[in-house]
Amino acid sequence: MAYDNSDGRLRGRKLQAARLRIWSANPHCARCGKLVAFPGGFELDHITALHKEGSTNDDDNMQVLCPPCHVKKSAVDMGYKERAKFDAAGRVVW
Ligand SMILES: [Zn+2]
Repeated sequence: MAYDNSDGRLRGRKLQAARLRIWSANPHCARCGKLVAFPGGFELDHITALHKEGSTNDDDNMQVLCPPCHVKKSAVDMGYKERAKFDAAGRVVW
C-alpha cells in the first residue's frame, strides 16, 4: 500500500474515492447502525487506528461511523477511557 504522505492518511481524491466505496458497501454506522448520508453525514474510520501496529488504508480496515460514534471511538483510540467522568462542577472529563 503506497501512502500519500508521511503520516499515512489518505487525502484528496483518493480519500473521496475511498469514502464513496466504503459508504456504498454499507451506508450505516458500524457502531450504532444509523443510516448516514453521503458525503457529509459520516466519518471514514480506521478500524485499527493509524498509529497502531498493523493499521492500513485498505478497505477492510475502513468503516463508516456517524460523527458522535467517531468522536467516542477516536477518544478510545487515543487511549482515553470510553466512559466519561465528571468533575466537581459536573463537566465531562475525558
Ligand atoms: Zn453511530
